[in-house]
Amino acid sequence: MRVAIFGTGYVGLVTGTCLAEVGHEVVCVDIDQAKVDGLGKGVIPIYEPGLEPMVKANHAAGRLRFTTDAAQAVAHGEVIFIAVGTPPDEDGSADLQYVLAVARTIGTHLQKPAVVVDKSTVPVGTADRVRETIARTLAGRGAQVKFDVVSNPEFLKEGAAVEDCMRPDRIVIGADNPEAVETLRRLYAPFNRNHERVVSMDVRSAELTKYAANAMLATKISFMNEIANIAEKVGADVEMVRKGIGSDPRIGWHFIYPGAGYGGSCFPKDVQALARTSQQHGHAPTLLDAVEAVNERQKGHLFELMLRHYGDVSALRGRTVALWGLAFKPNTDDMREASSRRLLQQLWEAGAKVRAFDPEAMEETRRIFGERTDLVLCDSAEEALQGADALVVITEWKQFRSPDFDELGRRLADAVIFDGRNLYEPDDVEAAGLAYYGIGRGRSI
Ligand code: NAD
Repeated sequence: MRVAIFGTGYVGLVTGTCLAEVGHEVVCVDIDQAKVDGLGKGVIPIYEPGLEPMVKANHAAGRLRFTTDAAQAVAHGEVIFIAVGTPPDEDGSADLQYVLAVARTIGTHLQKPAVVVDKSTVPVGTADRVRETIARTLAGRGAQVKFDVVSNPEFLKEGAAVEDCMRPDRIVIGADNPEAVETLRRLYAPFNRNHERVVSMDVRSAELTKYAANAMLATKISFMNEIANIAEKVGADVEMVRKGIGSDPRIGWHFIYPGAGYGGSCFPKDVQALARTSQQHGHAPTLLDAVEAVNERQKGHLFELMLRHYGDVSALRGRTVALWGLAFKPNTDDMREASSRRLLQQLWEAGAKVRAFDPEAMEETRRIFGERTDLVLCDSAEEALQGADALVVITEWKQFRSPDFDELGRRLADAVIFDGRNLYEPDDVEAAGLAYYGIGRGRSI
């Protein structure tokens, strides 16, 4: 099938590439000329496991093209995806300016029937606004073209995006017109061969499904962080508690890891946007507000542990902290809303220097913070330790999981580790003569 995709970010690029991989003819369109030029030359602007060879192979095969020419993309697509960003507005609601700009562009160039697909995460009612915007733009140029607007939210996880896209848990299709559902079923048929993954529903339910999924996951994280903080106070170890509850199949093992707070481009903004939607409809989002408040507090928790160790903030002045991890989670270079950003600011304000290493997010860190005398970007985890007083681990990359604690004991002048993801066993760390601070590990504090 002929597919056009507006937006070549994490979602648009991965979706376009996976659709091309199964044989569709895909044109990806973006307003960012540099990104499009780079992609045409095989330069992938994001780090996502498995993505680069797939983009290159499909581009070389002519099934995946990149352009800034919206007219050409609209003319090409029998299915046209909207996969642009929906960042938070000032009040936390989703900013729809990019989505609606694409709707106007589609209305400006549409010549033949198409199914327009909202893949961006958008508040309930957005498909109606997209439909009205396209219809108004068509009417403005005196054109009459049949089109449908379908909600098809994306559930891929950064860090496993290609895998998720090739083997989705479910494909949610929200549509009012059975023909449009049929078109998307044909499009996704290669991903739906072994068992039924399509969940078809009305448009509004599909739009809400995406927010419900992210809000549920964020709730699990904040819940566990709340328990961790209680554990710390009462002298219990949240890791024991986690094992104790995860074994209950009604609770399960996923997303019950306490840590330094959730970040990324989705959970923080989607929880806020759902809360705004709820308020706008006269329902107080008590639970969602709490989920967000717990997370905000949690992002400052590692620094609180540092203050607990050092006594007060003035003791951090002039110290050098090795920081392992910068990305908001492993296997990505994405730093949006990353907990590391809060910690960096707190450490700098306290007058500390940071020597940081992340396997993928160094360039992104350099782009965000530029050159600073209190930030040294290191080429390895090892190098970050040079001259450091303390180690903080904030992203659970696999390569940070089993360091040589004796070596760390020799290298860190203050002999202390702050483990923001509970990667280590306190006993192992303490046996090497280091002080250990984890999240919710009451017994060690
Ligand atoms: P992103 O910021 O990485 O990419 C958005 C892209 O859209 C950019 O390249 C931008 O230049 C382009 N763009 C903006 N306006 C455009 C226009 N008028 N025409 C063409 N291109 C335009 O965003 P993302 O992370 O891919 O997220 C896209 C949407 O998908 C968001 O609504 C997000 O909430 C949702 N989502 C994201 C993820 C994720 O893990 N990143 C997962 C599921 C859903």
